[in-house]
Amino acid sequence: MSDYKLLIGGQLVDGDAAMDVINPATEEVLAVCPRGSERQLNEAVAAAKAAFKTWRKVPMADRRAMVMKLADAVEARVDEFGRLLTQEQGKPLAESTAEIAYTAAFLRYLASLDLENKLIEDNETRRVEMRRKPLGVVGCIIPWNFPVLIVAFKAPVALLAGNTIVIKPAPTTPLTTLRLGELINEIFPAGVVNIVTDQNDLGGVLTTHPDVAKISFTGSTETGKKVMASAASSIKRITLELGGNDAAIVLPDVDPKVVAPGIFGGATMNAGQVCLAIKRVYAHESIYDELCDELARLADAAVVDDGLKQGAQIGPLQNKMQYEKVKGFLEDARANGNIIAGGQVEDRPGYFIRPTIVRDVTDGTKIVDEEQFGPILPVIKFSDTEEALERANASPWGLGGSVWSNDRDKAYELACEIDSGTVWINKHLDFGPNIPFGGAKQSGIGVEFAEEGLYEFTQIQVINEAR
Ligand code: NAD
Repeated sequence: MSDYKLLIGGQLVDGDAAMDVINPATEEVLAVCPRGSERQLNEAVAAAKAAFKTWRKVPMADRRAMVMKLADAVEARVDEFGRLLTQEQGKPLAESTAEIAYTAAFLRYLASLDLENKLIEDNETRRVEMRRKPLGVVGCIIPWNFPVLIVAFKAPVALLAGNTIVIKPAPTTPLTTLRLGELINEIFPAGVVNIVTDQNDLGGVLTTHPDVAKISFTGSTETGKKVMASAASSIKRITLELGGNDAAIVLPDVDPKVVAPGIFGGATMNAGQVCLAIKRVYAHESIYDELCDELARLADAAVVDDGLKQGAQIGPLQNKMQYEKVKGFLEDARANGNIIAGGQVEDRPGYFIRPTIVRDVTDGTKIVDEEQFGPILPVIKFSDTEEALERANASPWGLGGSVWSNDRDKAYELACEIDSGTVWINKHLDFGPNIPFGGAKQSGIGVEFAEEGLYEFTQIQVINEAR
């Protein structure tokens, strides 16, 4: 029997089945985890539906206070949860503890938002008021790259607005979320938050469930399309945060030594398994060689190791499937470019791939056009900025992007032309709960964070009264 439990209707329960969770740094079984069944998922939705009747009427101040209490409880466990997260996810301890600290910060900030009614007109003929009501049961589907933080992107706003939720973690990273469930169970009324694990087999049950009003999904574009199709059956609300192929455009006026660390960090954080990571660099021909050399120097110096080891900068890929996928990208990089750093898998247990810099590569190859979601960075040469912009925009994705230049006006002008939800100037991967975040094109629908994100968990209702 597992030490971990699902959370269904206010009870911490065993799964109908069990599954192993693997430590990606050792390939050993880290823990036996409960695996939810379709029956248990249906039970969780029924519990959430029943709890919604009263939760929606709980004053917002009280709902807020419970989320704040959860933030405090998470904050008190940064070290404990951080360690567990490194063991199941792979990222270095510093990144894991930061993820848990950010989780507390997101819970706290998002719970502090307000939902106020808006008086649109009030005169002799009519009084028109706009209210925002909760939707009902929300399904939160979570990927494996930030398994805890992404729960905090969705849960606080869903709950604050008066919805009840069913969280479905990714099959390879459920453990820290189940620990979070134990804290949740001490704070929230039964059924308000439920957590059910699966082996990639219950997502579809949740997205087609007639009693689920909304799906908030983070994951790949491919799965996002399935979510969108199945949500159509009952016109569910959807927020989709999907994949990306962020371009960094580096203009000729920069000092490659100065920008290289920011670019390298933006590409290799969490072993490159970040939706908003830099996935391709367009560098002007005048600084191309020097930038490539700097990036290669940083890649060669990077310490790749078990995230629990002191000094580890880059951990393993999160799971075997992703490891195999990234190895395929390495093959493509070898065939279509020059690998000037990395390029090897580590000769040891664990899904380790050294950070890899690929030069003399161009668009039309898998490593440039597709999302590698791993520590391999292609650097593409350009001579004309307009052409770099066109190539950056010639992608089905549009999540993030960045412009690197000392000319603020030029950088701003170029940034506005990039077809993506976020564009950074002289940095990449900077976000926060007060900054709306969403993807353009096939990177998603809707936004998370800030008021705009909160509104996505509400239904507008207009009360129009005759006078
Ligand atoms: P994935 O799409 O394989 O899985 C995501 C989640 O969806 C998991 O919980 C999985 O079990 C579930 N799922 C699988 N099949 C489903 C189905 N048919 N219906 C509903 N749910 C289903 O993605 P992943 O491999 O876990 O994550 C990697 C991808 O996620 C990358 O493409 C990355 O860019 C993207 N991502 C995007 C963001 C963002 O905010 N835009 C953040 C993190 C990751």
